[in-house]
Amino acid sequence: MVPDMLKTVQYQLIWWREFRQSLVFGTTPKRWLTKTWILLKTYRIFSDGRRIGDRIAPVVLDFKHNVVRLRQVCRNQPRYSVEFPIPKWVLERVAEGGDVKFAMVGVRRGKPYLVLVAEREVQPIQTSDYVLVVDVNSWKHGIAWALVKGSRVVKWARERPDLGHIERMYTELLKLEQKYGTLKRLGLHETAEGKKLWREIRRKKRKLYAILRDFSQKFTSRLARKAVRHHAKVVIDDMLEESRRKLLEEKIPNGLAKIYLSSVRRFVKLFVNQLRWYGVPYEFKRLYSTVCPRCGSKMRELPGRIMKCENCNFSAHRDFVPVTWYLFYERRSSEV
Ligand SMILES: [Zn+2]
Repeated sequence: MVPDMLKTVQYQLIWWREFRQSLVFGTTPKRWLTKTWILLKTYRIFSDGRRIGDRIAPVVLDFKHNVVRLRQVCRNQPRYSVEFPIPKWVLERVAEGGDVKFAMVGVRRGKPYLVLVAEREVQPIQTSDYVLVVDVNSWKHGIAWALVKGSRVVKWARERPDLGHIERMYTELLKLEQKYGTLKRLGLHETAEGKKLWREIRRKKRKLYAILRDFSQKFTSRLARKAVRHHAKVVIDDMLEESRRKLLEEKIPNGLAKIYLSSVRRFVKLFVNQLRWYGVPYEFKRLYSTVCPRCGSKMRELPGRIMKCENCNFSAHRDFVPVTWYLFYERRSSEV
């Protein structure tokens, strides 16, 4: 039925029911899955009675009863299946007009991991004269966004995760890692104490990443919905190399700078995925925050994050400079 399925996956799939408590539902295949995931067909039963897909597919999404039914795929023994509640996000995607044509399955730490792939054929939204300008800096400086109507900035703000909390967590993590390093040098890392410490480190690390991921998820979906509401095109600046240098200059510990940077990259990816999902047109544009939009000179930062150009006297709040650059591009293109 699924000819090129890996033996390990096949073996696990026989035992769906053993994993009733531990089956993980995901949205996209994680990196570790890319080599091992298997595409499975799905059969969808909608609450209005429509039935779409392959009737004998191993994964059945029953929206009438809000359950995912997983059928045993490897042996055609008596029709055996297990049921799980459909994850909330799947219901939301489907309510937005999405469909789950495929599921992917893999094994993670010996347990099956099921990815439900929600897709949607999107009609690009009809844009208005609103533009959402998003300046992706770094977590340190946050992400500044501005809603522009014509040449007027309607609203702007800068947002970032609770960095104090994250930095405290990171410091704790470093301390634990140092302690573990000492144990390792003494050859004591395999002891009960050492193992406990290692688990603690992993737990803390996961939590740290989870906080940033959670922030990104909520923030990107809020921004995407803002764009949808205003029928706005989205312009994104994402100059990360500059931010990286900045972070290093600002004496953020190297490890933390890396965490910030990778999670900001993920933010951009997530944001673009959301925009695609809703059919919001977007483009990347280089929007500077330290170069004068009027004369192109390098600006100086004054206290209170005010940027000042000593050549032409232009000055603006640092978060406002990127949107000024956007307006500058717009004016230039309308003059041509
Ligand atoms: Zn200037």
